[in-house]
Amino acid sequence: MSLASEPLAGAGAWIKAMVDGWAGYSEDEEHLTRLFLSPQHKACAQAVMSAMRAAGMTARLDAIGNVVGRYEAAAPGAKTLITGSHIDTVRDAGAYDGNLGVALPIACIAELDARGQRLPYAIEVIAFGDEEGVRFPTTLSGSRSIAGTFDPAVLSVTDAEGVRLRDALTAFGCDPDAIAGEARRRETVAAFVEVHIEQGPVLEVEGLPVGTVTAINGASRFAITVEGMAGHAGTVPMHLRRDALAGAAEMIAAIEARAAAENGLVATVGRLAVAPGAINVIPGKAEFSLDIRAPEDLQRQAAVTVLEATLAAIARRRGLALRVERLYDEPAAACHPGLMAQLDGAIARQGLRPLRLPSGAGHDAMALAALCPIAMLFVRCGGGISHNPLESITAEDAEVAARVFLDFLEHFDPDLG
Ligand SMILES: [Zn+2]
Repeated sequence: MSLASEPLAGAGAWIKAMVDGWAGYSEDEEHLTRLFLSPQHKACAQAVMSAMRAAGMTARLDAIGNVVGRYEAAAPGAKTLITGSHIDTVRDAGAYDGNLGVALPIACIAELDARGQRLPYAIEVIAFGDEEGVRFPTTLSGSRSIAGTFDPAVLSVTDAEGVRLRDALTAFGCDPDAIAGEARRRETVAAFVEVHIEQGPVLEVEGLPVGTVTAINGASRFAITVEGMAGHAGTVPMHLRRDALAGAAEMIAAIEARAAAENGLVATVGRLAVAPGAINVIPGKAEFSLDIRAPEDLQRQAAVTVLEATLAAIARRRGLALRVERLYDEPAAACHPGLMAQLDGAIARQGLRPLRLPSGAGHDAMALAALCPIAMLFVRCGGGISHNPLESITAEDAEVAARVFLDFLEHFDPDLG
């Protein structure tokens, strides 16, 4: 990075080049796939450690496979601000998901280091190894270890090849029995602030390079079964039918209308199965999934209650049997108001309009919320596309985001009130 008169001049190109370089650590030459504890993950972790050391930080691999970089405070005994994101990917991934949130803070610290500047608090940049949860039936094990909420029973889970997580960690050079020791003490941590691409279209529509996240949405998932009566498509008059699919269709339209009528609420029916599934048979059974998310748990729960009543009313009117099975509930993780205000302040000082938006996707910050106040800075991504090789950001946006983040660091007040 050139240290021209303007702080972080050229940092956007530097950040992009770094992330694009890491994208070379992939198990597949044509597509980016970097799974937790794979040889490619190891090579990437080593590249991240080199970049951290070049930026004036100490760097180490911890017991759960996180890379932990540390930039000490001006004086000993100060609290630590933790930042960072994940360097594992989905299959056929984009380069910036997670990785941007590791490279960008390293660029900011390189700038501080070049100036010989220390801050009144220490900074840790953590490259988490297991956010996407692709290889093992577990997720967020890196961030949970830092938060002290890692469940040691998870060490026994196996990947598709039958390799236990415990053995994969050992082969990676980690000590699974030291994971509990990675938990941070609450009183030593000021906050966790994660930089991440938005993975959605809001910033692009608003014409803004960055935005302040309000919360990571909570989610509920359901399996819904509608049963009617299968019958001949030619012989049963319309008023005598109990068509399970027509009922399900009315329910799906009601779900969409409800979510569209409420700010922040999103609801998706992503799967639909119809039986018997023939062109000349009235559907006797329809099964569909429902994924519903909102930045506040009360809002999500209220929507679920209303939708359950709506679906039951539709089923009653049509003479259909309805079964709603709740599969999953994940509470929302709210960002800290004081941290959001400090991020907004940094955005405004850089001459941009602060915008607040919820995160529809899960992030490492969710796990860190169990340890300390959290916040997230979203960076615009092209077309809102993510988990896709077409994922993109511009060097200009990366540079603006780095300026905002550095400004935030320089003004950060660990006393959040
Ligand atoms: Zn991510």
